[in-house]
Amino acid sequence: MEQNKDLNQFDIPLAKRIYLNNSKSILLKKLLLFSPFLFLLFSIFALRLIRNIGIGSFGDLNLQAQVNEDLRILGHLPYAEIPKEKLVFIEPNIKVHIDMRDSLLKMRDEAKKDGIYLVFLSGYRSINLQNEIFYSLKSFRNQDAAERARVSAPPGYSEHSTGFAIDIGDATQRETDFEAEFENTDAFKWLIKNAAKFHFKLSFTKDNKYIDYEPWHWRYEGSIEALKVFESSNRKS
Ligand SMILES: [Zn+2]
Repeated sequence: MEQNKDLNQFDIPLAKRIYLNNSKSILLKKLLLFSPFLFLLFSIFALRLIRNIGIGSFGDLNLQAQVNEDLRILGHLPYAEIPKEKLVFIEPNIKVHIDMRDSLLKMRDEAKKDGIYLVFLSGYRSINLQNEIFYSLKSFRNQDAAERARVSAPPGYSEHSTGFAIDIGDATQRETDFEAEFENTDAFKWLIKNAAKFHFKLSFTKDNKYIDYEPWHWRYEGSIEALKVFESSNRKS
């Protein structure tokens, strides 16, 4: 008995042995066995994450740039035709978008109070009419499409089809109608000083790289609908 007691001191209790042999080592073995799979899974996950980040930032930017470039034709952005029910007459032969009528007429009245006589030359133009203007005059003037596009928008690409564009002249200097010389008139000088009060903006300024300077051509940006229509143009210029 004395001897057994002594031997027992060196023995490991049964429960302890079971614990060591079974749980810990099995767990370790399992981990070792599955480690290549775990590593593989982690690698796939990491790769996918890197790819997604790449597509998310650079991919979108590239796509955006492509869309912006592709939208223009000979430097002109596309514009949809305004529904007929939103058009109103401001002159016997000129219609504009109903949203800008009041502001436009108010601008003419205020100019008159300052001794300036604005005359409206052209407002809404249908895509069909723009088609004729673009191609007939292109042919008549023997111009190629790019040359023509510097002075006139291709059909479907004119701000005039939105009803938010207006060509303005000086009633006392009609020889400057649709001419760059319009910029020397009192009407133009008044517009440059005051048009923003009525939410009008010069569309084709001297620094426009695609389209020739058009001091007579103004667009309305006084409503959310109008701002949405010209959003691309304002973003690019
Ligand atoms: Zn115009």
